Amino acid sequence: MARENTNSNKKKITTVVLFGSIALAITLFSTLADAAPKLKILHKADRSHPKGSSPWPDFGETPETNTPEVKAWVKSIDWSKVPKLPIRKTESRGDPPECPHGGAPKSDCWWTCTGCFAHDDVYDCPGKNEWGLTFDDGPHPGVTEGIFSLLEQKNVTATFFVTGTNSAKAPWLLQDTIDKGHHLASHTWSHSGLTTLTNAEIVAELKWTEKYIFDHTGYKIKYFRPPYGDVDNRVRAIARELGFKTVIWSSDWDTQDWQLSEHTITPKKVIGIFNSGLKSLPKRKKGVITLEHDGDKRYLTMARTLLDMGMKKGMKPMNIAQCLGDKVGYNAVPALPALPASAPKKPTAPAPIAAVPAADIKQAGGVEPQVSIPPSPVAKDDKKEKTTLPAPAKEAITPEKKSSASTISAGLSVAGWTLAAVVVSYVL
Ligand SMILES: [Zn+2]
Repeated sequence: MARENTNSNKKKITTVVLFGSIALAITLFSTLADAAPKLKILHKADRSHPKGSSPWPDFGETPETNTPEVKAWVKSIDWSKVPKLPIRKTESRGDPPECPHGGAPKSDCWWTCTGCFAHDDVYDCPGKNEWGLTFDDGPHPGVTEGIFSLLEQKNVTATFFVTGTNSAKAPWLLQDTIDKGHHLASHTWSHSGLTTLTNAEIVAELKWTEKYIFDHTGYKIKYFRPPYGDVDNRVRAIARELGFKTVIWSSDWDTQDWQLSEHTITPKKVIGIFNSGLKSLPKRKKGVITLEHDGDKRYLTMARTLLDMGMKKGMKPMNIAQCLGDKVGYNAVPALPALPASAPKKPTAPAPIAAVPAADIKQAGGVEPQVSIPPSPVAKDDKKEKTTLPAPAKEAITPEKKSSASTISAGLSVAGWTLAAVVVSYVL
């Protein structure tokens, strides 16, 4: 009898230990599943059909205008604010325009042809020695990461004007750009000369790029740079109506680095151009915005040289939002998670904003910002405030994705506990 009791007690202890271990393992596993990333953007091109919308436009092509999306975007514009200027001629579609003999009327303010800037164009950094660092035409796997490392070594950030086409080839680099504290901006979908396109085509170029970046990061682009700087008052008005600010670059601060890949310029010549800019610095009251490119290792090597040269002369590199004193740098950012009551508040963390209708954001499948305030126009004489860009969101998590991750985790728990119950009943 005593022996039977001892055996029974041993069995009970074994059962409790076994049961406890299994429960512990299940809890640990479920916790790990909860902590795992909810949304991972894979390292591959993504032209998968966006939910509830027409397919993404083709790589390198001006997007179709005969789609419900483009029609709705066109309808949202007050066309009385867009001047009726001619569509400019070009040798072949997508190329920059040809400037007609005799130029163009002053009232067109056609930068490509006459170098004209509009009152709200961004082309200089307002503060002396400030250096708006910009890289166009990316992202490009194998080069963009090199630019990130270079900027990290120098502890500076830049604005990356990306095309929709290249973003769709390497969408993970969009999120990486934000995660590393840089600033994302648009360089249109297909990199065409915009003055050579119809009104609807310009809308499609800008809005599809905005949507692609938004769907893959949760950030709604505010700044755009026309390819080749090709902008006139028609293009500007359309961009303005859609909520974008036009950014060009400072006169004489185009580094011409893009010619390095075409062997139409030598590195020595590029350095010479930059040096003449540096010599003019003491006379400049404002800072500058330079034009450099992503996409070729030669550009990266040159970027390193120019960065060293400029910093030695006291130039302060920064992204465009920073130099303009724009605290957010986007028309919308992902909603920030609420801080626990005990956690100290970060003084520089900006409030999420939306200068666009929340319905529009929902339609785009993104995270709806929590508050809405009107965008603040950046006037030339705006009192500048040194700022940092919003804390990068690690992931743009949609409620659906979040709930599916929770469901997986809950499923693991249920399965685990069932297994534990089976084992216990077997032992007993
Ligand atoms: Zn470009």
